[in-house]
Amino acid sequence: MLQQMYPQVFHDYEYELNKDMQFAAAHFVPHPEAGKCRQVHGHTYFINLTVAGDTLDEAGFLVNFALLKKIVSGQFDHTLLNDHSIFNEENPNDFPTTEVVARKIYELVQEYLDTLPNKPSCVQVFVRETPTSYVVYRPKKVKKRG
Ligand SMILES: [Zn+2]
Repeated sequence: MLQQMYPQVFHDYEYELNKDMQFAAAHFVPHPEAGKCRQVHGHTYFINLTVAGDTLDEAGFLVNFALLKKIVSGQFDHTLLNDHSIFNEENPNDFPTTEVVARKIYELVQEYLDTLPNKPSCVQVFVRETPTSYVVYRPKKVKKRG
């Protein structure tokens, strides 16, 4: 949720940046145990990205806030998540559950960060799917990059 405090992630980087964003999207979870979630329905997803690093770029940024928003909201807003090729209905690890959405967002963001010369790391992705439920994804090993 915008302007709320998020769970803290421990790391020893000097800089930590957090970016809030939101997008509206539909999804369904193609599994018998998903109950009502097997039907197409929508959420307003609230996302918080935590990016950390020791080195700033030439402009004095760890990462450009606007580009982070473009990578995530720009891609998913007003779409059916199941239509994106990063999700599929064969493998539970690729179903668009809140957990998987959080991990996929991490992967998209880190893929972009890896192209930057100052090599920042995405250390946490917070995904709120409803007013009462959210997931936090943290990569297993936050490797020092650069
Ligand atoms: Zn849902």
